[in-house]
Amino acid sequence: MSDLDRLVEPKQADIVYETQEPVRYEVDGAAAHIIMNRPSYNNAQNSQMTYALDAAFRRAVDDDDIRVIVLRGEGKHFSAGHDIGTPGRDVTASWDRVALVPDHTNKPAAEFLYTREHEVYIGMCRRWRDVPKPTIAAVQGACIAGGLMLAWVCDFIVATDDAFFQDPVNRMGIPGVEYFAHGFELPPRIAKEFIMLGERMSAERAYNFGMVNRLSTRDALLSDVKAMAEELAKRPRLGNWLTKQALNHVEDLRGKRTATDAHFHMHHFAHAQSDLTFRNSLGGMDAKSMAAANKASAEKE
Ligand code: ZN
Repeated sequence: MSDLDRLVEPKQADIVYETQEPVRYEVDGAAAHIIMNRPSYNNAQNSQMTYALDAAFRRAVDDDDIRVIVLRGEGKHFSAGHDIGTPGRDVTASWDRVALVPDHTNKPAAEFLYTREHEVYIGMCRRWRDVPKPTIAAVQGACIAGGLMLAWVCDFIVATDDAFFQDPVNRMGIPGVEYFAHGFELPPRIAKEFIMLGERMSAERAYNFGMVNRLSTRDALLSDVKAMAEELAKRPRLGNWLTKQALNHVEDLRGKRTATDAHFHMHHFAHAQSDLTFRNSLGGMDAKSMAAANKASAEKE
């Protein structure tokens, strides 16, 4: 084994999936509901889930009767982020890619995560952001790190009054999650605070910055989203698609595409530095130490 090989994630012989259905797909009138379905792990995203999400978006796009897509999470929380520690963590598993990128599993050192995250994080997020139908994220409870990426790629965010948003990965020495929309969702000074301090942002504060479209409650979330979806479904299909393309284009003219590309490489420089320093791509942290640090910070607030 070379020194480089030792820096790659150890092979996990023991990936244990708690479900074969990490994403549910339901139809409600003209709306497809794509539902993250790992409630026992707060919808932590493993590759099994991201590939299932991609397949669900494909299905909703292919069905002409579907006019609106709702993305939501089963259980107490929308999503606790990327899977960094459940028995179903599967970063070493190989999948049929949805983009023209190679398999990551036989790649050495930094190329391993760089290749994987090109596909399952920034690549898929950009695909989902550009689906030709309006998308609504229905967010309750925690929307942390990788969870933010899923909410942000949607055209609309409806959040319960107890929802909160947080990107704590600066604790790992990483300058924000892979899809760097922070500076577009929030004013720059607030985005710096959001990432550097990594504290929770309440739904109400996010609403005040325009990151959330509508505030709801746990009891009313589904009916509020349904009302919005029904209105959107009444609008012309092509008009909805062209409108979202126009606004996504405005974001890209403001530099979103180049900013997220630049950041993706900083993010991977941070992973590589972390591998070299800690023999761990997450700054020496894991799910347990991150949860403890987040809890301590939340209690201080
Ligand atoms: Zn990463």
